Amino acid sequence: MGIIKIHDKNFKKSISEEEILQRVAAIAREIEADCKYQNPLFLPVLNGSFMFTSDLMKEIDMNCEMQFVKVKSYTGMHSTQQVKTLIGADMAVSGRTVIIIEDIVDTGATIKELVNQLHHLNPNEIKICSLLFKPTKYKGDLKVDYYGFEIPDDFVIGYGLDYNGLGRNLRHIYTVTE
Ligand code: 5GP
Repeated sequence: MGIIKIHDKNFKKSISEEEILQRVAAIAREIEADCKYQNPLFLPVLNGSFMFTSDLMKEIDMNCEMQFVKVKSYTGMHSTQQVKTLIGADMAVSGRTVIIIEDIVDTGATIKELVNQLHHLNPNEIKICSLLFKPTKYKGDLKVDYYGFEIPDDFVIGYGLDYNGLGRNLRHIYTVTE
């Protein structure tokens, strides 16, 4: 039970939807406490963060705006370390509190590049929020201000995260078994 096969790999359920939703609510409370009355601009990074973003937004109880952005740094199960240009953050960033929403922070290349590009748009403050964080892989020096779970250096899918296109629709998070 809890084992699924996607393409050529087996994955085992590692974080349940219930555990995820509890952490999502806790993150929402932290963000509200820090950013109330700032009308923050959430910038969720597509595709992986769509499910996390949806649940987080439903929990946030304050004025805020949201604009999906797109970048890419992964092919299959390995980071290419090639981060593409940020697309979609062309709305009013100047002077704003901006909160990047990521599904997972791994090497940190994606958030580093995003933050670099966002700085050119003159935000007041940039915060980083990720559902998952792999501390042993992280090479960055930016603070991940809010995160749901620290996880080991294993490939995960589900709750928005894919393996070569499949698995985004799974409601739990699964870890590769081999
Ligand atoms: P980073 O730039 O921090 O190395 O990687 C961030 C991006 O790589 C994430 O937004 C995600 O798309 C992808 N990624 C990193 N680790 C995993 C993982 O374990 N599973 C999946 N499906 N994607 C991952």
